[in-house]
Amino acid sequence: MTVPSFPDTGRPVAELLAELDALKADDLPTRGENVTAYVYDSGRPEVRKAAERAYLAMLEINSLDPTAFPSTVALERSVVAAVASRLGGDEATPGIFTSGGTESIMLAVKAARDARPEIAHPRMVIPVTAHAAFHKAGAYLRVAVDTVPVDPATFLADPQAMAAACTDDTVLIVASAPSYAQGVVDPVEAIASLAAERGIPCHVDACVGGWLLPWLAEAGADIPAFDLSVPGVTSISCDLHKFGYAPKGASVVLFRDTAMRMAAYYACASWPGYPVVNSTVQSSKGAGPLAGAWATLQALGAEGYRELGREALEATRRLVAGIERIEGLEVLGKPQATLVAIGSSTLDLFELADRSRERGFFLQPQMAVDGLPASVHVTLTGVSARGVEGMLTVLAEAADEVRSQGPAKPPAELAELVGLLDLAGMDDATFASLLPAAGWDPAPTGSPAMAAINNLLNVLEPREREMIIKRFVSVLYSPYLSTGDTNPAH
Ligand SMILES: *Cc1c(COP(=O)(O)O)cnc(C)c1O
Repeated sequence: MTVPSFPDTGRPVAELLAELDALKADDLPTRGENVTAYVYDSGRPEVRKAAERAYLAMLEINSLDPTAFPSTVALERSVVAAVASRLGGDEATPGIFTSGGTESIMLAVKAARDARPEIAHPRMVIPVTAHAAFHKAGAYLRVAVDTVPVDPATFLADPQAMAAACTDDTVLIVASAPSYAQGVVDPVEAIASLAAERGIPCHVDACVGGWLLPWLAEAGADIPAFDLSVPGVTSISCDLHKFGYAPKGASVVLFRDTAMRMAAYYACASWPGYPVVNSTVQSSKGAGPLAGAWATLQALGAEGYRELGREALEATRRLVAGIERIEGLEVLGKPQATLVAIGSSTLDLFELADRSRERGFFLQPQMAVDGLPASVHVTLTGVSARGVEGMLTVLAEAADEVRSQGPAKPPAELAELVGLLDLAGMDDATFASLLPAAGWDPAPTGSPAMAAINNLLNVLEPREREMIIKRFVSVLYSPYLSTGDTNPAH
């Protein structure tokens, strides 16, 4: 698909919108029951409409200065109070509306770090199942990450092992509710109490579960306590652009006390311009996502979320039962929310993902790490129920198709070859020229063949994987992957 670069004269809106539609043709669908990662569809057109109109109504408002745009303060207080009311807080609980889970986590890590300025080399202790956002926060904020193994059968964090990993430099302990990869809720009470004994703050990553678990608990699911009602929990993150069904760019981080929220803030008066005070990483900041999240919460209400939660839970139970009937597939751990990791010791899971995608279902590949097996991920939402039988049929057909191939054969020679390459030093053009040999189809349309690349990545060390995927993104945004007329400038 050709994207014209900058035109000399302005183009009509109809043409631009038509071009966007054409560009989106190869994207995953964002609505309906076939979407099992990245996007969350409430299935309710009136809710989407409310979010869309509210987003556009606030499109030009800048949250940079809350005194210039007081509407943003009112909206943020409303959204934060709504989240706090369901997560063990009240209308006085300090919180911040952020652009997403990663930013919420960054701010929690910054707050924990800056609350202990006397510690020169701060560290945090996380279970290996914690989201990558903690590693990212550690890298951005120079907080060293101590990763602790989890129970290999249940994928649950081990409180004693986490306590043992703490040192005098530990500024934060983390638990997930639930973890993204296997969808299990860590023993938050035990972790938070061990943290409190040592005077260490405890962050609960409820990015994916914060606006889901409360409704599942109401629907009778067995959900252990995980929020601010648990003694020792000092902050919690909750994404509204996941199970809040709000447009992207919406998350909340809550703090137990105002001092910690202050430590997350940033202010700068040491320059000749306006005094800067930011609650988030962004400074100038569109109010669209905030208004979209507020409108979605208001349009669905507790009753709406309850119903979506019940439906997602029902869909998950049927999917888990169905997967267990498919020869060679298993569900990893005991998913407590509506996120499911499908594993296999006999089938090539990444081939399974490709075969499923050809049939319209996207399964998200998850790599092996620290002794935990590879898997493919499915997130079930309020609209998943009507698609479960179809998903199970696709999984069974895809499993039949890959069964004859046996388990994944790690491309040993290729992996060895990767070890010999100067990945950091080579240029984009060279890297792009190597991709076809690794199994990359340079002109993906609809359902790209990813299994070969995923299997290669899966046998590499995380550091090598990271270098390769960074290189890959670099060529993706370069002209070197194009196979013809994709860039008229060349
Ligand atoms: C999605 C997620 C995050 C990161 O959130 P983004 O909104 O993608 O930045 C962090 N933790 C968990 C458990 C998540 O599911």
